This record gives sequence, C-alpha cells and structure tokens, in this order.
Amino acid sequence: MSYVEPAPIKPEVEDPFESMMSRFDIAAEILNLETGVYDYLKTPQMQIITSIPIQMDDGTIEVFEGYRVIHSSVRGPSKGGIRYSPNITLSEVKALAAWMTWKCAVVNIPFGGAKGGVKCDPRSLTKVELEKITRRYTANLLDVLGPERDIPAPDVNTDEQIMGWIMDTYSMHIRHTETAVVTGKPTFLCGSLGRREATGRGVRIVAEAAMKKFGMSPTDTTVVVQGFGNVGSVAAKEFSELGCKVVAISDVTGAYYNEKGIDIDAALKHKEEHNGLLTDFRGGESLSNEELLELPCDILAPCALEDQITRKNADRIRAKIIVEGANGPTTAKADPILNDKGILVIPDILANAGGVTVSYFEWVQDRMGYFWPLEDVRERLARILREAFDAVDATAEKYKVSLRIAAYVLAIDRVAKTLKLRGIYG
Ligand code: NAD
Repeated sequence: MSYVEPAPIKPEVEDPFESMMSRFDIAAEILNLETGVYDYLKTPQMQIITSIPIQMDDGTIEVFEGYRVIHSSVRGPSKGGIRYSPNITLSEVKALAAWMTWKCAVVNIPFGGAKGGVKCDPRSLTKVELEKITRRYTANLLDVLGPERDIPAPDVNTDEQIMGWIMDTYSMHIRHTETAVVTGKPTFLCGSLGRREATGRGVRIVAEAAMKKFGMSPTDTTVVVQGFGNVGSVAAKEFSELGCKVVAISDVTGAYYNEKGIDIDAALKHKEEHNGLLTDFRGGESLSNEELLELPCDILAPCALEDQITRKNADRIRAKIIVEGANGPTTAKADPILNDKGILVIPDILANAGGVTVSYFEWVQDRMGYFWPLEDVRERLARILREAFDAVDATAEKYKVSLRIAAYVLAIDRVAKTLKLRGIYG
C-alpha cells in the first residue's frame, strides 16, 4: 500500500500544541473545514491556571501551579488525565487536551477532551503532601469537574490512589459519594476490571488488526517495545501471549536485546524485585534506547515518551509497523520520512485509545451501579478498537493518506458534524 500526504508539513516545531496543529491543519484542508468551524475546533474551550498552596510536612508553605484545559465538550463531558511533572507547561496540557478530543472521537465514545496537571516533582513529595496537593487541586476545580462535565483520569505520575482522593474530595463537597467523577480508580472504589491493562491490550488489538491486513502471522513477527511501564509492560506481555517474538524491551535504565526473544514474565518479575525498574536485567544484551529504536523488527511499539522518532532518526527506523502506545512519540517532521519508507504508523490517537475506552466503561458502570465481568470489558474493548481501526483504515484508503492523517480526518469530521447539528449558541 502506498500513502501520499496531500500537503507539505510545516517545519518541525518544538511546541507540542503547534505540533498537534500541524496534523490538524492537513486534516482540516482535506475536509475543507470552513474557517469558523476551524477556529472553533482549534481553540480550547477553557484554560484554567490555579494556585495550590500547601503546608508541607516541615511546616513551611509552598505554592504549586495547577492546570486544567478543556479542549472540547461538543461530543459530551470532557475526559482526560492529570499529569504531575516538574516540566509540565500549559502548551503541553493544551496539546494533550486536544488529542483527547480526537482520541475519543476516533473510538466514537461520547466524550470531549481535556487534560490537567500540576507542576511538581512527586518523587520529592511525601504521601501526605501529595494527598494535600491532589485534594486542593480538586477543590479548586469543583465548578469544572463532574460526571456530566469534566472527568479526570490518571496520566504520568498519577495513579489509582490519587484518583481515589479526587473522588473522595469531590464527594465530600457535594455531600454524597459520586464515583463517576473520575476514572482509573481502584476496583475496590468502583473502578473497572481491565482498566489497568487496557492501554497495553489496546496496542496489541490494533497491531493485530494491521498484521491481519498484511497477512502477517504472529509466530513470524518480531516486536520491539520501548518503555516498560503501565503501557509498555502490558503491551510486551500481550504480544508474547499472541505468539510474537519480543526481541527487545527498554525502560529508563536502558534497553535489553535478545535475538531469541525476551522472556517477558522474567522481565516483569525482575521489575517487581527492582523497584519497578529493569536495572541489570540479564535476559538480553544491553543497548541504548536510541539503538533499540533502530533495531530491525516487524513491529516497533514506542510506549514511553513523546518525541522519540524525529527527523534525525526516522530514516534509520527499520520496523514495518510502528504502533504508538505513548502519546506523541513521533514528531510531525518525522511523519513524511516514515511514509516515504513505507512504514505503517498506527497513530497514538488510535493505538493507545484502549485506556480511555475502558475509562468510558468505568464511567458507564459507575452511573449504572452495576459492574461487568472482565470478559465483557475485554470483548467490548476489542470490538470498539477493531471498528475504530477499520474506520481509520477506510478513511486512509478514501483520501489516500497515512493512518495518522486519516485518524485526524475521521475525528475532526465527527466533532464538526456534531457541532453543526448542535449549532452555535450565541
Ligand atoms: P509509566 O510511567 O508507567 O511508564 C513509562 C515507562 O517509560 C517506564 O518504564 C519508564 O522507565 C520508561 N522511560 C522513561 N524514560 C525513558 C527513556 N528515556 N527511554 C526509554 N524508556 C523510558 O507511563 P505509562 O502510563 O506507561 O505511559 C507511557 C506513555 O503512554 C505516555 O506517553 C502516556 O501519556 C501514554 N499513555 C498512557 C496511558 C495509560 O493508560 N497509562 C493511556 C494512553 C497513553
């Protein structure tokens, strides 16, 4: 299959919102989006910067900066994670919020997009301080959050416990328990079965759909996974269960390569015994993360960070398929280089949408007060992702564009159609 990009991409931009917009612009041009609708969809609905004063354990007061950007609630309540990071910027949160709008539209679930964060270094905070930050952040956003309004979830450096504190703080203020205000909660606190592994499982489901399309047999397929956290470790395990040979894995400690295949169960055990890291893992030869990305393989799954495949290394990538478990692992400037090489890229807004899909299931279950067995969660997740893959693939064929641009076209078209039917109030 050969893909042709219809318009040149702007020069590489570092700003994450601009990077998202350079893909948005190509899709908007294909859709012939009228100027007013274009302006409406590119502008976040609400951008909040809030200060979070906390009394630290030593008695001093520190003020942290929190963000919540609601990009769109055209298709339903806005949905998106909360990230705790010392480097977080409003531009990054804006880009991630817009990606959530497109992601929810690609998998056709009734949510808009949002993202939030707090500028802090969780590793230097105690559990008590982290809880105080979370509760004050939630209280400051009380008029924004709600099961019908804006529903957070975990993201980098936030976990099930933090979601539990958000649920409790919100519930205390409204005087009754409201579990559907946040997803990614512990199952014990009305979370959904299958939520934790949903993103990694989704990576495998969409990769499997692409393999089927190309007539690739799992047992003849080699896989390289970057990142061994929530997404990467589950994706690696899923690929090995499918029968693929996972020849390399990596995390922040480095990469590990084994031509005969990495024993993923051994790697998971090693991680558990080494504080969540692959430090000194002996199941493979040591490589750098840069070398890992350039290994010859059938499937490369970047599941760690953004900006890993850039115009500098795109030409040296030797995978047949890239499945983007992470958000934004490929820069806009790398897209045409990968296309020219004939590499099929399953874009983030499709490839890692398994997480938000099961978050949607969690919200549905919380509102019903009735919880599904794991098999139902898995079967519904697989159906939604396969349908989304087929819809994106059909859009790519129709417009002769890459799967990434097709995913944007599909998503933007769905949001724009909803907007037109709702009309503009004002
Ligand atoms: P995580 O913190 O659980 O794992 C991140 C992994 O990346 C860790 O193994 C870490 O050691 C590794 N890593 C960090 N720096 C690295 C480097 N320089 N080279 C190689 N590996 C490195 O995070 P996660 O939840 O797995 O998220 C990973 C990515 O997936 C992020 O982009 C996130 O936004 C995206 N994502 C996550 C979910 C989800 O449900 N968790 C859903 C959608 C998208």
